Amino acid sequence: MNASEIRAFGAAHRYFQGPGAVALIGECVASLGRHPVLVCDIIVRDLVQAGVVASCAAQSQSLRWLEVRGDVTHAAVAALCAEARADGATPDVVIAAGGGKGVDTGKAVARELGARLVVLPTSASNDGPCSKAFVFYDDHHRLLSVEQLPRNPDAVVVDTRFLVRAPRALLVSGIGDALCKLYEGDQTRLAGGRNLFGGVSTIAAEQLSVACDRVIRADAEAALSSLGAAEPNAAFERLTEALVLLSGLAFENSGLSIAHSMTRGLPRVPELGAALHGLQVAYGLYVQWQLEGRSEAFMAQQARFYRAIGLPRTLAELGAPEVNDAMIESIAAGTMQSPHLKHFQRPLAQADFVAAMQRVEALSFSPA
Ligand SMILES: [Zn+2]
Repeated sequence: MNASEIRAFGAAHRYFQGPGAVALIGECVASLGRHPVLVCDIIVRDLVQAGVVASCAAQSQSLRWLEVRGDVTHAAVAALCAEARADGATPDVVIAAGGGKGVDTGKAVARELGARLVVLPTSASNDGPCSKAFVFYDDHHRLLSVEQLPRNPDAVVVDTRFLVRAPRALLVSGIGDALCKLYEGDQTRLAGGRNLFGGVSTIAAEQLSVACDRVIRADAEAALSSLGAAEPNAAFERLTEALVLLSGLAFENSGLSIAHSMTRGLPRVPELGAALHGLQVAYGLYVQWQLEGRSEAFMAQQARFYRAIGLPRTLAELGAPEVNDAMIESIAAGTMQSPHLKHFQRPLAQADFVAAMQRVEALSFSPA
């Protein structure tokens, strides 16, 4: 059989989500090993520690803590692993907690130690928790490499009481990151591209992507308005599942395309590189729709949704101080470096991106 005909699907082994779900973490950990370590920064520790410690204590497990202090760099991960090995038994279960940084650092430490992995996200700001991918940065916060764990997390525990207290900007970013998945997956499928498990997409992956999009459209506004409440509401629970579970399943099992490719070009402008990942890809999705040749009616509908949520439709909304032709050329040139460009219905050149970005900028002047 031709390898390009092999369907592949992968996922985290277990997923738990709801108010108070942190109470399940001790049981998860006990099923995986005997020496757990919590990897997170001090702010996240203050948020999660009481719940995690109590839950582990109920299983007669004592918990160590490794403090995440900065970016996910090779030096930082090596130092944490040395600390983990120096003091008592080497941890065999890593609880990776936080937004992006704590989770990625925990993944890197787990891989290095050969430990099992439980992810405890404290915001729904990106698709990382269920994924086997993580990112290394250099000392100047430049993307160094996208790394892969040998398998997806053993468990993902999402306590929505933590998430409902996260800043609004992080949730908006998570919405942007998840919104791309159906459209990037569709382009990958059209192009016959491989997913992150090295096979072609499945009916399952396509349907998960469709569900992810449907839930975001239906529930994002109501979920945003519930932020800060003591208890998450039903819309918040559904949106969380879309942003943490469905979004992660969708991209790993479908593939990425143009929206994520633009994260290679946008950082050429420092103000744009500083924007949250989900906002960068939301803008990138707008450019992708232009390249797909979407109708005016479709774009007007998306503009209304973007405005309601607070997603950026233009470079200025993403944070560019001023927009000029040289900036657009530079972003287009950087985007051409992406490995995901082949996941599109036709080959694309730098000039295609320049034209699409200019059309997107022009759209902003028309009433939406
Ligand atoms: Zn993403």
